[in-house]
Amino acid sequence: MLRRALQPGLSRGVLGRGLGTHRGRSTLGKVEGSGGYRGSWVAPVSSYVTFRTRDPTHDGKTVGRLGEGDQNGKVSEIKKKIQSVLPRGAWNPLRDTSYLPPEHSDVVIVGGGVIGLSVAYWLKRLEKPQGAIRVLVVERDHMYSQASTALSVGGIRQQFSVPENIQLSLFSEYLAVVDDPPLDIQFNPSGYLLLASEKGAAVMESNVKVQRQEGAKVCLMSPEQLRNKFPWINTEGVALASYGMEHEGWFDPWCLLQGLRRKVQSMGVLFCHGEVTRFVSSSSHTETTSGEEVTLRRIHEVHVKMDRSLEYQPVECALVINAAGAWSGQIAELAGVGKGPPGTLQGTQLPVELRKRYVYLWHCPQGPGLETPFVIDASGAYFRREGLGNNYLGGCSPTEEEEPDPGNLEVDHDFFQDKVWPPLAQRVPAFETLKVRSAWAGYYDYNTFDQNGVVGPHPLVVNMYFATGFSGHGLQQAPAVGRAVAEMVLDGHFRTINLSPFLFNRFYLGEKVQEHNII
Ligand SMILES: Cc1cc2nc3c(=O)[nH]c(=O)nc-3n(C[C@H](O)[C@H](O)[C@H](O)COP(=O)(O)OP(=O)(O)OC[C@H]3O[C@@H](n4cnc5c(N)ncnc54)[C@H](O)[C@@H]3O)c2cc1C
Repeated sequence: MLRRALQPGLSRGVLGRGLGTHRGRSTLGKVEGSGGYRGSWVAPVSSYVTFRTRDPTHDGKTVGRLGEGDQNGKVSEIKKKIQSVLPRGAWNPLRDTSYLPPEHSDVVIVGGGVIGLSVAYWLKRLEKPQGAIRVLVVERDHMYSQASTALSVGGIRQQFSVPENIQLSLFSEYLAVVDDPPLDIQFNPSGYLLLASEKGAAVMESNVKVQRQEGAKVCLMSPEQLRNKFPWINTEGVALASYGMEHEGWFDPWCLLQGLRRKVQSMGVLFCHGEVTRFVSSSSHTETTSGEEVTLRRIHEVHVKMDRSLEYQPVECALVINAAGAWSGQIAELAGVGKGPPGTLQGTQLPVELRKRYVYLWHCPQGPGLETPFVIDASGAYFRREGLGNNYLGGCSPTEEEEPDPGNLEVDHDFFQDKVWPPLAQRVPAFETLKVRSAWAGYYDYNTFDQNGVVGPHPLVVNMYFATGFSGHGLQQAPAVGRAVAEMVLDGHFRTINLSPFLFNRFYLGEKVQEHNII
């Protein structure tokens, strides 16, 4: 799409808006000339090239062929005549500005990771009639170099303790419908194997009860049964194990991300490569039922700073989805969330922050074979197979005291040596001889309050909706969360899975969602 070129030195720093307001429409409209000319400029681009007023290759001195003496004189006469009827300063070169966001969008989604894309997908899928709402996804990093989605290990399990978490993961069978033609996300159907010590056995037993009630197929195994099924495991210190028999495993998160992106684009979702830096909102005052005075805010405009530029493009909107993952706390703050006296609803922040997690990839020729499940040891260390060549990947979450500085994504190799390898080598003796081949770090979108997702609208910034804070299990919950947010936006309530326990209000009310199986 072509729009008028950006005017250098625009006083408010706002990118020049296109002549047309909607994508796909003709962008050639009225042009105001500085020389008193006012009119509708509808000349085809070819005429524009023929009659341009300056010729950059000839310093504007001539437009005729060289060495044609008299003829040159005639040509410049004609040129002068033409110039006298042209709108001088208003001739700006046309440039492709399709990278700019539209001037308005009903919904602006901040963050183009798996959660933002899933919300976009469900909004388009559930909208009535088709094409009713315009959805824009703003993503600042089109390479996804720091996005959790791209740096995760791709696991999906039903073995949680909170019914809603189990339902969210069971719903992920819908991954199969997100593309046309079928999307190969390299799914490895392989159960999760959770190991419990004597201390954790009772909790495991009650968790499995809940999982079965919710429809998950999970079995409990004694140490002896465990040894029979997986002879490479050392069962010392293991009192009980739970093993998922259906719909668990791992997949390639990058394939899912790219497939989803392609799909939502085909459904008409707009994308913009830029950073959300500001919200323009209006406010009004009201009292809560308990007599607390609060300020209600409504966002009207999202400012998108374009890549490698100091300029921004304002986008008018009706609604904003905060799907900025580990950075969603910052986006909430930009919208005024948490700006109020401590201990009040107004002063309650979105408790989501960056937490760095390491993933190590190792090779071990004597390691367990193709039947290897996704193992979560009682110590918290985990591993799974990666490919078919005796490669494995795994890691372990640090304790609060060990939390590394999230300021960069450098890997601490000592952490593997001291915290990951010892428990894994004790559990799988073959791992004594492993060799680490590579490693990376990524960010959890960590909810410091209760390590669970935050889904639905903010009570005071009334048109900001959250889909964030999944603390290490957002990938597998993305399909269901996307649907839940879309239902909330379109119908005003959750329909498929009731995610009321995950609303923002719980931070103010102090009502934690107690999930035992956070990894
Ligand atoms: C090491 C590791 C292992 C994991 N393993 C699993 C697993 O096995 N199973 C599982 O279910 N989950 C796992 N997770 C968690 C999962 O990856 C995340 O919960 C999920 O990917 C979150 O998706 P998201 O879209 O919210 O975040 P992201 O993928 O991080 O996307 C958010 C996007 O927002 C963009 N953004 C931020 N601020 C702005 C702004 N101002 N303007 C524009 N764009 C902005 C960012 O660039 C980013 O691309 C793991 C995470 C890590 C780090």
